[in-house]
Amino acid sequence: MMKNIILFGKPGAGKGTQAVLLRDAFQLVHISTGDLFRYNIGNNTSLGALAKSYMDQGDLVPDEVTIKMLEAEVDANPDAGGFIFDGFPRTAKQAEALDEFLHCKDMNVHATIGLEVDEEVLIKRLLNRGKDSGRADDQDEEKIRNRFEEYNNKTAPLINYYKAQNKFHSITGVGTVTEISEQLIALLDSL
Ligand code: AMP
Repeated sequence: MMKNIILFGKPGAGKGTQAVLLRDAFQLVHISTGDLFRYNIGNNTSLGALAKSYMDQGDLVPDEVTIKMLEAEVDANPDAGGFIFDGFPRTAKQAEALDEFLHCKDMNVHATIGLEVDEEVLIKRLLNRGKDSGRADDQDEEKIRNRFEEYNNKTAPLINYYKAQNKFHSITGVGTVTEISEQLIALLDSL
């Protein structure tokens, strides 16, 4: 059974860390749109230059380019047994595009899981991460708060979109990495 899983969570909730562990536990292909944008920035592509102007402010990159990039990455992995989507979809338009795209390939979204962490905890985590990662969007509290606002306005409504399909689950994102990954794996095993 092909499992396509979406991880939700505010910036810093641990999506990337947990996605890698789920990738290994379930032999999935991990797709992080944030990582793809950063890869493009690192390689000085025109997509990277476009994305950077939004990312540096903590704004979402426009849907059209984000959706195209995501679809190309899925198409680049035709032998995948399933995908773990990390940071996509982030808007209603992206969620609808993903459903339609997967449907055309006889695939679907199996489950979505939200990692719940309070914003004040996340700000501390992100400012800490920014010291090591050098990510401009992790170094400035105002930009971090803007990313939360983008999440609350544009991404949080997707919870109802997936709840209506009985595909939304959530767990706490506070605890050790191992504790959280054990809970995620148990949840996915139970579905
Ligand atoms: P992340 O690494 O997931 O925290 O993403 C970093 C930044 O990349 C976000 O703040 C956005 O600017 C951009 N980004 C990543 N994924 C998306 C997406 N699905 N839609 C729009 N922008 C995105």
